[in-house]
Amino acid sequence: MSKVLVTGGAGFLGSHLCDRLLADRHEILCVDNFFTGTKRNILHLIGNPLFELQRHDVTFPLYVEVERIFNLACPASPVHYQFDPVQTTKTSVHGAINMLGLAKRVRARILQASTSEVYGDPEIHPQTEDYWGRVNPIGMRSCYDEGKRCAETLFFDYRRQHKLDIKVVRIFNTYGPRMHPNDGRVVSNFIVQALKGEDITIYGTGQQTRSFCYVDDLIEALLRMMESGPDLPGPVNVGNPREFTMLELAERVLSLTGSASRLVFQPLPEDDPKQRQPDITLARDKLGWEPKVSLDDGLRETIAYFRRELGSR
Ligand code: NAD
Ligand code: UDP
Ligand code: UDP
Repeated sequence: MSKVLVTGGAGFLGSHLCDRLLADRHEILCVDNFFTGTKRNILHLIGNPLFELQRHDVTFPLYVEVERIFNLACPASPVHYQFDPVQTTKTSVHGAINMLGLAKRVRARILQASTSEVYGDPEIHPQTEDYWGRVNPIGMRSCYDEGKRCAETLFFDYRRQHKLDIKVVRIFNTYGPRMHPNDGRVVSNFIVQALKGEDITIYGTGQQTRSFCYVDDLIEALLRMMESGPDLPGPVNVGNPREFTMLELAERVLSLTGSASRLVFQPLPEDDPKQRQPDITLARDKLGWEPKVSLDDGLRETIAYFRRELGSR
């Protein structure tokens, strides 16, 4: 049992991570400024003596005593990270500096939730960790992409300069219960639209692809990465290599919800990557990990969640 800090712990991934860590009897300090996360996601944990919640913005210093740090604090959907882009960059960069400074002081192991967005709109497919990416430094997505890239730089410099025990994972599109219903991400949009009988909004032609990982698989990868040996700082891709077009996703959602919603086509957002698929050879070899949950099974769980959520409003 160890004392674990989870930043962004009231968010989608963070709350599932807290669940798993508590099930494994770790003591948790969950830190969140509730920008996109909600107390609802962790309500069931409040009162557990192993769980502590602290409202705090990681762009400010944090002095606590912990042994492990999962740094997840950062809005993840374009709608949210573009709402206040300067704060998004600060969260990634100042947040990383503060959490690395903390890790350095208490000699904690620290894991960074990086993203497939560091590859930008990639020229190689599928993406391997040694690909440097193709990122626009001055576009609408740059606050997120470049912020996350700079955070990776900081992690590796703290490792080189201060011998810090770091772990960097590059997370590809992940979905599941507790996704924010209004965050504009494709899985939550399509499911909510299908359940409400509204039009399904396909951006562009719908031929662009993504690879969707179910949240339980993703959390397992984070835990394995955190407990891997010091010779594996990463970066390691984590995601589901099974790739779908947005049209295929819409078709699966319509079929699983039994919805009669129509497809409508809308303009493609700026800098929207055309294709994305992780090469997870490294995660398979070094972590013995690969995703187990199929898209249909994961979508069923997520649809059931949104049905309950929409019903309760
Ligand atoms: P989320 O928005 O649900 O969670 C982020 C959490 O961070 C929220 O609870 C939010 O309130 C909190 N937060 C934001 N800024 C903060 C700040 N300055 N100080 C303290 N807390 C702050 O998003 P998520 O999908 O759970 O993503 C978690 C992490 O994983 C993020 O770092 C994200 O970049 C990364 N990631 C997620 C995905 C995905 O598909 N979900 C893909 C790649 C990377
Ligand atoms: N920091 C923190 N908690 C700590 C230690 C440091 O939040 O327990 C912050 C502190 O604000 C500092 C940053 O982390 O600015 C980087 O710390 P580091 O020791 O690497 O650098 P320095 O203090 O020399 O700027
Ligand atoms: N998308 C879509 N309709 C929506 C929301 C998103 O067609 O209602 C598309 C979007 O243009 C992108 C893909 O779905 O090509 C994934 O978008 P998301 O925001 O979920 O993730 P990201 O672009 O960050 O991978």
